[in-house]
Amino acid sequence: MSTGTPIPTPAEYDVVIVGAGVSGAMIAKQLGLAGKKVLMLEAGAGLPPNNNEFMQRFYTTVAKVPESPYTPEVFTPPGSGTLTNPGTLNAGRPTTMMLSQGAWQNPAMAYMDQQGPLPFSSTYERIAGGTMRHWLGTSLRNVPNDFRMASAYGLKPDPQGNQNNFADWPLSYADLEPWYEKAEFEIGVSADKATQAYLGISFPPTYQYPMKPIPASLVDQAVTEAVSGQRIDGLPLVVTETPAGRNSQPFQGRRVCAGNTNCIPICPIQAKYDPSITLNAALNTGQVTLMAQTVASEILVGDDGRVSGIKYLRYDDINGPATGQGTCTGKRYVLAAHAVETPRLCLMSKNNGETANGVANKNGLLGKYLMDHPLYLAWALAPNPVYGYRGPLATSGIESLRDGDFRAQRAAFRIEIGNEGWNFSAGDPWTTTVDFVNGMNLSQLNPSLSALWGSDLVNALNRNLSRQFRLGFLVEQSPDAGNCVELSTTQVDHLGLPRPQIRYDLSPYTRAGFAAAKKTADAIFDMMGATQYTQEPEANDPAAFEVDIDGTPTRLKYYGAGHIVGTHRMGRDAASSVVNADQRSWDHQNLFLVGSGSFPTVATANPTLTIAAVALRTAQALIDDLAA
Ligand SMILES: Cc1cc2nc3c(=O)[nH]c(=O)nc-3n(C[C@H](O)[C@H](O)[C@H](O)COP(=O)(O)OP(=O)(O)OC[C@H]3O[C@@H](n4cnc5c(N)ncnc54)[C@H](O)[C@@H]3O)c2cc1C
Ligand code: SF4
Repeated sequence: MSTGTPIPTPAEYDVVIVGAGVSGAMIAKQLGLAGKKVLMLEAGAGLPPNNNEFMQRFYTTVAKVPESPYTPEVFTPPGSGTLTNPGTLNAGRPTTMMLSQGAWQNPAMAYMDQQGPLPFSSTYERIAGGTMRHWLGTSLRNVPNDFRMASAYGLKPDPQGNQNNFADWPLSYADLEPWYEKAEFEIGVSADKATQAYLGISFPPTYQYPMKPIPASLVDQAVTEAVSGQRIDGLPLVVTETPAGRNSQPFQGRRVCAGNTNCIPICPIQAKYDPSITLNAALNTGQVTLMAQTVASEILVGDDGRVSGIKYLRYDDINGPATGQGTCTGKRYVLAAHAVETPRLCLMSKNNGETANGVANKNGLLGKYLMDHPLYLAWALAPNPVYGYRGPLATSGIESLRDGDFRAQRAAFRIEIGNEGWNFSAGDPWTTTVDFVNGMNLSQLNPSLSALWGSDLVNALNRNLSRQFRLGFLVEQSPDAGNCVELSTTQVDHLGLPRPQIRYDLSPYTRAGFAAAKKTADAIFDMMGATQYTQEPEANDPAAFEVDIDGTPTRLKYYGAGHIVGTHRMGRDAASSVVNADQRSWDHQNLFLVGSGSFPTVATANPTLTIAAVALRTAQALIDDLAA
């Protein structure tokens, strides 16, 4: 059947949701269970019957990057190594390859129109199930001070007002606590609350996580032994098991994690949660209709200021012409297209000049305060084997540095202990293997350029690969008005819609956090007796910048964490925010903008558990609102 078919009945839904990622799916399921008629518009491909097609694409791709199992193809023709031109796609998305090939400002290779000065380095998916198809599964709660950065640390904007625009959330940890519990059960989080009660995080006495924790890896154990009892800048170094959205025991009909370290980009056995699970549950309520390959293109606003409909374009082929268009209507509207595409859609919605600034943008704040967790990556060889590649990609972290008085001066961070050797940092195990076979030294582990075979090769690989490990520092980025999503004035996608334009930089507050991250990495490697191999960024690396570390100018490089936050911040009043605590637009009474775009500050926790908790809270607000 062509996707150009008219919209299914009923003509008016209770709720229309744009986007079928975790935010949209969580809300759709709750509404469906409450008997509400829901229509979901999804820009990308719909739900396949199983993961086989994704796995096949992943096995055969020349680049095992986060996006490679999913559509649209990263390369055209597939497997060619030639990046797909985003201008040929009806639902394009950024990919990590666009950054690694230095193509971040080439419109024929990069989806986003990046104005710099630094590259925004995180990516997202446009496919049913959304970006979380390739997530890692880390499911941490925010600490209480994460919700009150402005008042707890007295943080004020810079004199120009463009940086350090910290704001308190209109929700506290106590407000969200019951919703965290519900989110942990929907996702299926494996953890032990005794280890998670730190820096003010608390749990009701009767609460237990759905599953026991995933066992710590041997790498975690080596780091724990070395740092136990140690402090840095007066702060304790404590290794804590990471709450994981993956099964440590059979849960909701899915299998136990088999520990084969492939969580990003795809878990072959679906032991890791992904939103197709919630989306299928939503569809199974019989109340929810999913229209895939359907791109929302304009939000219509009536004379009364309420949203009156959403225009959409449909396509059969990702590179083909639009095969249908229409307008869908509901009593309420939810934009769950993530923190770049939601403001893009609102900004495109000009209503013949009636909303010339875009929808939900009377105060001009929409699209501003774009944030990420710029990631500092450091890698080393442990003195003894730590045997990476056993278990999930990460099972523990150092969380004790996520809060403290230092946040008045510099960004905080959490430290993820990687369990995949130098896969992220150096492309191993392949790089080192190729080095020792061919007499090369791309890994820096073969300076004598030995070309080995037989038992010599096996011994060299065992000696090196078994000792590799890395640390990833997720740095809390300050909310800066200058970092924003706008509409490109020069680039369109294949449907003729303006592509997102991005301005991005790292403030001195964020850079100071980065400098502290490097010093902490050096200290931890010293405590372990490990030999560090972290490389200086190359001279032309666009993601490199300079910081002063104890009087020495030092060049560092950041990676995108995939944690896209800000752009429609929540707050207590219409002047200083885009949505309220229910994620309801201040400007349009029946419009909700949901997801990490609503976060006023990024904090240090990976965002999705908080996205889910806030989404479940909004779902209840919608149900109450529809009943009123
Ligand atoms: C490599 C990687 C690893 C990550 N690991 C973690 C982790 O371990 N822990 C964690 O907490 N978070 C992690 N994240 C972040 C996590 O994936 C996101 O926070 C989460 O997916 C956001 O969910 P969402 O539903 O708001 O948006 P998305 O998942 O991006 O879903 C948005 C949906 O909207 C659709 N859409 C967009 N525009 C339109 C339109 N105009 N019309 C119709 N539909 C539209 C898209 O196609 C998409 O399906 C990771 C991200 C990456 C990239
Ligand atoms: S370690 Fe393997 S089985 Fe476990 S969640 Fe990751 S990919 Fe899935």
